[in-house]
Amino acid sequence: SMASPALLMRVVASAYSVAEKAAKIVRNVMSAGDLGIVEKTGANDLQTKADRLVQMSICASLARKFPKVTIIGEEELSTDEVTEDLIENGHCEEILKKTCPAQYTGIKEEELVIWVDPLDGTKEYTEGLLDHVTVLIGIAYGGKAIAGVINQPYYNYEAGADAVLGRTIWGVLGIGAFGFQLTEAPAGKHIIVTTRSHSSTLVNDCISALNPDSVIRVGGAGNKIIQLIEGKASAYIFASPGCKKWDTCAPEAILHAVGGKITDIHGNPFQYNKDVKHMNSAGVLATLRNYDYYASRIPNTVKQSLVP
Ligand code: AMP
Ligand code: MG
Ligand code: MG
Repeated sequence: SMASPALLMRVVASAYSVAEKAAKIVRNVMSAGDLGIVEKTGANDLQTKADRLVQMSICASLARKFPKVTIIGEEELSTDEVTEDLIENGHCEEILKKTCPAQYTGIKEEELVIWVDPLDGTKEYTEGLLDHVTVLIGIAYGGKAIAGVINQPYYNYEAGADAVLGRTIWGVLGIGAFGFQLTEAPAGKHIIVTTRSHSSTLVNDCISALNPDSVIRVGGAGNKIIQLIEGKASAYIFASPGCKKWDTCAPEAILHAVGGKITDIHGNPFQYNKDVKHMNSAGVLATLRNYDYYASRIPNTVKQSLVP
């Protein structure tokens, strides 16, 4: 008889369906029209009803199936009862058919940490820049991001009524990443993608020092990794604190699964153990190719301003 699939593959297969349910919630809250916006640390750090409902949905659904896994979500929620309509029970069969890499077959529930950003790009969501929004479920083992799911609820929303709205990208180190077309950025061009709503002098000085051919300013860490793997940009550079572990875990797993690299601005890898501090204090530097080109050109003055 067939052995039951490895825990990691079952978690990723469930996270896929949980992220699709999350995307429906994101779209439903927007179409209902009452976003229920709350300021967290300030006007550029928002939470909506979608952030709250989606976090409850993802965390409760995964906790029910995998009770010993550590799940860390972005939002601090009052301990509201989770209603049954928020629970997703399904999984993606395609993912269960893939072979788990040998180094991950023995993983136990208590060894996994799941980092959840229920809605990445909240500021842009409230401003109607809907394709900037993603739902991020990152899976870490031994402090490393090893698997992830990125759902983009409004992918194709400007492509007309015939286009399928939304998509789910997933990846596992050693297997690859799926749900998109891996595309190289234009050769010889330096196109930097960075924050749209969290700029600072340091963020802009760092980009200027790299003398890029062009700069794309869009919301969301998930969205910016998508720009890299689809060849729209050659580097994601954010010389600032502000980005957190739930922003980078799923994007990191997917980027690394296709041969890219993400670190802080000094070149330090991110750690995803359950006790790690949440803030990526020393910023973000990510590329699909030519990581060293960008890393070697980050000015020392910028590095000195960002303490890991
Ligand atoms: P951005 O590129 O501005 O969309 O930021 C990527 C992620 O980091 C989003 O989840 C932001 O909410 C978060 N982030 C970045 N900078 C800040 C900040 N100054 N305050 C709060 N969140 C931030
Ligand atoms: Mg986020
Ligand atoms: Mg968020």
